[in-house]
Amino acid sequence: MSDCIFCKIAKKESPASIEAETDSVIAFANINPVSETHILIIPKKHVETFLDLDDLLLEMKSVADGLIKSNGIESAYKLVFNGGKYQAVPHAHWHLLGGKLEDNEDVLNKL
Ligand code: 5GP
Ligand code: ZN
Repeated sequence: MSDCIFCKIAKKESPASIEAETDSVIAFANINPVSETHILIIPKKHVETFLDLDDLLLEMKSVADGLIKSNGIESAYKLVFNGGKYQAVPHAHWHLLGGKLEDNEDVLNKL
């Protein structure tokens, strides 16, 4: 989708701090992190929501597994999908949060 910011990041047309990449999935640092580790994991192709994800979810899980280990957050992490009116960017993305979540009680207790 030409006007989708996450499609542009996936195609390297927009800058982002890339944390991991496979054939079909890319992960990058959130521009507005709410915790020490706040990474977004997305399919490279434009898939609008969690509901539209198919077996790509398995590849996203494998990227998430690697990032949880490489960030050393196995003992404390959260993985969140937003949807519907709670999803601001209409390109499916998985939030991986970890590290110092205690500093943000809303994120720690309400997600
Ligand atoms: P959601 O759609 O789940 O509510 O959240 C979208 C997330 O994408 C937000 O946490 C926001 O900070 C992040 N985000 C929005 N635009 C950009 C961008 O251009 N680059 C990066 N790295 N993150 C973004
Ligand atoms: Zn997109």
